[in-house]
Amino acid sequence: MPLPVAHSLASGIIYSSADADGSLFTWKRLLLAIFIANAPDLDFLPGLLMGEPNRFHHGPTHSLAMVVIVAGIAAGVAALGARWSMRGRIEARAVAGTALMVGALWLSHILLDGFTDDLLGPFGVPLLWPFSDRYFLFYPWFPHVARYSGSSEPVAFLLSLLNSHNAWAAAVEILTLAPVLALSIWWRRRSRAGTQGPTAASCAAMPPLDLSPSDSD
Ligand SMILES: [Zn+2]
Repeated sequence: MPLPVAHSLASGIIYSSADADGSLFTWKRLLLAIFIANAPDLDFLPGLLMGEPNRFHHGPTHSLAMVVIVAGIAAGVAALGARWSMRGRIEARAVAGTALMVGALWLSHILLDGFTDDLLGPFGVPLLWPFSDRYFLFYPWFPHVARYSGSSEPVAFLLSLLNSHNAWAAAVEILTLAPVLALSIWWRRRSRAGTQGPTAASCAAMPPLDLSPSDSD
């Protein structure tokens, strides 16, 4: 797994690319996108509580099946949110867009993990769970994250992440993904400068990513 640095940069790239003219940008949506792109690593939590942080890591949350599941949940929540907001109708395009966006963010996490060196088993990601037990490590482009692998208290585990190797790993992640993010932001601003307000194309490409009911139309 790479550090949250890489996953957060990836979420920015996906968000910028989807919101081509920036007409739908909000910090709340961006923070939600960053959370979703990092969410598969919540599988650390049960192990942390048990004193074995790596025990459940790289489990089912790192599979394509989970991408489909979270995208389906996002679609359901978006549809319910539209109904509760009293808009009078559920916009299928917005619901599908939300599902695609959430699925893309989750998938980006799995792909980045698959391109990261891994020194702690299991090596790679269980892409085809539950149909196969095989783990996939595509190419070790990003350095591994050095962390305590034995039993430890949550605080001790988190402190083990603070080391010079992980600083180098963060630098590689930034040097690889920050230029792509800068390019996507430049493209977005260039598109915004060339348009007057949101275009139909941008609205179709960018889902609202606002899963909570709204009282305004
Ligand atoms: Zn992960």
